[in-house]
Amino acid sequence: MIYADHAATTPMSETAVSAMVSMMRETWGNASSLYGLGQKAKEALEEARADVAEAIGAQKNEILFTSGGSEADNQALRSAAALGRKDGKTHIISSAFEHHAVLHTLDALRGEGFEITLLPVHEDGIVRPEEVARAIRDDTCLVSIMYANNEIGTIQPIPEIGAVCRQKKVLFHTDAVQAVGHIPVNVVSDQVDLLSASAHKFHGPKGVGFLYAKKGVRLTSLIEGGAQERGRRAGTENVPGIAAMAAALKEATENLPARAAALSAMRDRLIDGLRRIPHCALNGDAKRRLPGNVNFCFEGIEGESLLLLLDDLGIQASSGSACTSGSLDPSHVLLAIGRVHDVAHGSLRLSIGEELTAAQADEIIRAVTDTVRHLRSFSPVWRDLCSGKSKFILP
Ligand SMILES: *Cc1c(COP(=O)(O)O)cnc(C)c1O
Repeated sequence: MIYADHAATTPMSETAVSAMVSMMRETWGNASSLYGLGQKAKEALEEARADVAEAIGAQKNEILFTSGGSEADNQALRSAAALGRKDGKTHIISSAFEHHAVLHTLDALRGEGFEITLLPVHEDGIVRPEEVARAIRDDTCLVSIMYANNEIGTIQPIPEIGAVCRQKKVLFHTDAVQAVGHIPVNVVSDQVDLLSASAHKFHGPKGVGFLYAKKGVRLTSLIEGGAQERGRRAGTENVPGIAAMAAALKEATENLPARAAALSAMRDRLIDGLRRIPHCALNGDAKRRLPGNVNFCFEGIEGESLLLLLDDLGIQASSGSACTSGSLDPSHVLLAIGRVHDVAHGSLRLSIGEELTAAQADEIIRAVTDTVRHLRSFSPVWRDLCSGKSKFILP
């Protein structure tokens, strides 16, 4: 079996599993209890907070633990919106290809009277900092641009956008769920005010993540109850999950540049091999993309059929994002970079991990090449393209 869907979720690292199991066995007290067992849990919690903070260049008290990336995105946007509303600022800037945790929260805020500008991401899948600068108005309270896209892997010019926002004194949030643990992220040099991350995308457990909020940025609580997380998120802390997340992140950020370079080489091997398939296109910029992300459109086929046949061959991949698979609408990300509906339907995302060998990469190339050829052999759409009845869109 070859698992090539790390953007959907990653397997937990051994280090994270043992951190979690040992917490569940030995440090299972309630971190708010005053006796020894509770205090041990509290210590583990604060140690994890320090480790997570260090991994992204933050201060310990700037880290808030959440149930994952979606909650962190919701809380970041709602907090910035509440701060904006207080000052009479109700305009928010984001991009067309954000994760639904951001887009759907923005939809809700629109219903509550906010005006939302979604910037284009262009054919290369990159937001332009100049366009962010141009879109900022006197009543803009927030810019939210993801660090790296979960479908096409493109990495955004975050430090440049951060500089624009700082200069214009507008809060800047980035959904860094796909970036943290995969490429170097530093909240100080990136000049971000709010940042979301999720453990299960970097070999930690599911159901746990964090929100970075720069000192002085007041967070609104989404969950009312006890005073945990300094009153910003009620509920008994998930200490085993949080400790496992910290362990996974520490491991993921060790030697990161060298490991990312090795993974990028494997990614490029896949891209070079798959590019030989006729009438296909790589989605997103070839170089400014996550080390493990490969995303193609193949004309004349359905991505879903390709996935099912690849699964039969022992290769687990995706057509876009796990969250929208099963829906018949083409991916909003592929539409945002200008792919037409028919082409967007024939997409394949391979998100690889460091365990992938060159032989396995070659096996993927062979399997995809053969399967695309097979699917085209009985596709009426492909027959019309070949007979000249309709025109090829991809070269
Ligand atoms: C996975 C993902 C999320 C959601 O994170 P969860 O922890 O699964 O809630 C948000 N944004 C991006 C970019 C993601 O890839």
